[in-house]
Amino acid sequence: MEQSGNGYLWALDRAADLLVSSRHPIAMTGAGVSVESGIPPFRGPGGLWTRHGEPPMDGYQRFLADPQGYWEERLRAPSEIVQALAQARPNAGHYAMVELEQIGILHHLITQNIDNLHRAAGQRKLAEIHGNALLLRCIGCRQRFPREAIAITPDNLPPRCPSCAGIIKVDTVHFGEPIPPDVLEVCFRETRQSDCMLVAGTSALVYPAASFPQMLKEGGGALIEVNLYDTPLTPLADCSLRGAFGDILPTLVEQVRTKLTA
Ligand code: ZN
Repeated sequence: MEQSGNGYLWALDRAADLLVSSRHPIAMTGAGVSVESGIPPFRGPGGLWTRHGEPPMDGYQRFLADPQGYWEERLRAPSEIVQALAQARPNAGHYAMVELEQIGILHHLITQNIDNLHRAAGQRKLAEIHGNALLLRCIGCRQRFPREAIAITPDNLPPRCPSCAGIIKVDTVHFGEPIPPDVLEVCFRETRQSDCMLVAGTSALVYPAASFPQMLKEGGGALIEVNLYDTPLTPLADCSLRGAFGDILPTLVEQVRTKLTA
């Protein structure tokens, strides 16, 4: 939806005011911010799942039933998302989000994305709700490892945790798999403490992500939305910025800096 020049400037100023005056601003991002870095979305036209079919709804149960078969399949056919990740780089929006953290405004970032781009940009306080495609996780002790830290060869499947000998899976959360409790706990803790949330590139329709903006609003917090389009969150938002994440975030951070030095 088009936003008139004045409407945009008003929203930009209001968003910067909210960020600067709030006690504990946090942010949440979704697929929209990754698309700008060349990561194909899962759903919609051209989406990975649109072209290849949705992954099984009981993906986690299948993994648990046959971890060796799961790993054999992974070794046979490297996923398209992993290949797209190898080429993707953080965009200006990812870096602006890091800056927002470094200047002491942003307290935490919750992301639904699995593409590692926030981490690659340098984000320190990060909760990856759906995991990280470049990490592995032990289903026993829940420790995470970089992929290269665990030797995965056809004769040692499934790979085992060096600490507890538990079975290793990718960190990415599969259908049917509970969100890792350590991550979920951080998300709820941060949302409870927060009085301002910036939501970018997601309509937050999928649980648990959907519950965070809602919790924040119920607690009287302010919601800032950055998206190309109106979303189901728009009516809840105190201000909405229409446009690309990579354009808006750097401008917003500049505005915040101006207010901090004023
Ligand atoms: Zn372990």
